[in-house]
Amino acid sequence: MPGGMYGHESVTKLPVPDSYPQFMSRGRGAHVWDVDGNEYIDLMCSYGPVVLGHQHPKVEAAVRAQEAKGDCQNGPSARMVELAEALVGRVRHADWAMFAKNGCDATTLALMIVRAATGHRKSLAARGSYHGAAPWCTPELVGTTPEDRANLIYFTYNDLESAQAAAAEAGDDFAGVIVTPFRHDAPLDQELVDSSFARGLRALCDASGAALILDDVRCGFRLHLGGSWEPIDVDPDISAWSKAIANGYAISAVLGNDRFRTAATEVFSTGSFWFSAVSMAAALATLEAVAEERAVETMQARGQALRAKLDEQAMQWGIGIRQTGPAQMPFLTFDGDVDLTMANAFAAQAIRRGVFLHPRHNWFVSAAMTEEDVSRALEATNEAFGAVRRLQDVE
Ligand code: PMP
Repeated sequence: MPGGMYGHESVTKLPVPDSYPQFMSRGRGAHVWDVDGNEYIDLMCSYGPVVLGHQHPKVEAAVRAQEAKGDCQNGPSARMVELAEALVGRVRHADWAMFAKNGCDATTLALMIVRAATGHRKSLAARGSYHGAAPWCTPELVGTTPEDRANLIYFTYNDLESAQAAAAEAGDDFAGVIVTPFRHDAPLDQELVDSSFARGLRALCDASGAALILDDVRCGFRLHLGGSWEPIDVDPDISAWSKAIANGYAISAVLGNDRFRTAATEVFSTGSFWFSAVSMAAALATLEAVAEERAVETMQARGQALRAKLDEQAMQWGIGIRQTGPAQMPFLTFDGDVDLTMANAFAAQAIRRGVFLHPRHNWFVSAAMTEEDVSRALEATNEAFGAVRRLQDVE
């Protein structure tokens, strides 16, 4: 493999490569094991997909049952219709559903549908927001051309005036706005959405017939049982989903309202594995289990317990920290840590003591996390804070 490993899961990209395991062997509940047999409490959840915990019995049973019948066939199985119905039933703005494999397939398809529907080219995106690794959105420009981004205009998250200015620049070529439910740009502090900003984006799109696209790939079904902006009462026209919808099985979805149905019919979109039945069966079981087990509430409770105690620990060590974002997707940064020295030291100590978290990327809590897992994780973080303190004392 080029460079040993590629992409965001390459440990060479981490500041503490020798601390992080590159290859994993198995997972169960909120625990994962690397190929050397080391066990970790999982606070990354495969960077988001694992929401109910690894090897969730109901999801695994649905997977086994579908595998026994067939996965990749000459056409989709009935699971596809069932899943479309389940998602449209669950997500308020949605009248139809399409499926793909990765989050980036879904965000890219959403933009194509919006361009097809409006006949316009320009889309607005928040500067620094992650929407995938295709040439139009990858954060690293290597291998891309300026033309790949010629139809994107950037605004600042939570700054409505900047979005209005971007829309003015798009003029009568304004197709849509793509935005995440809250700001989760690594390695910055997370920022919850300002509801007046969300409402303002909705009004901006309505005023010119442009589409509002919610990129719910990272947050979907971790924050809420429906779309992540339902609690603030702002409905997108189209939403993009992946990660948590099948508890780790490969699937993404684009959901849309009736205004965009014809365009969604016309855009040519497909992939060899997009119609496979197993991940659709996994998604159906996940959707049921997330609701039945009140997974969102559990993740919130565990995240809040973790967060409260982390605050206490940092205070006891005399270390200034900031904890931001929703409790289910926690993140911690250190005051004055411009070069991330403290974040790196903290993460390195945590991983060595059996807690898998990340120095730059938000963490994820799964519903499989028990109170005991939280306590065990906190023993490790306390020692990790101690290491940060000693670092500060040396300086
Ligand atoms: N959008 C958001 C908000 C994401 O967090 C991600 C993945 N981290 C993507 C899109 C792309 O998803 P994928 O990596 O599955 O292509």
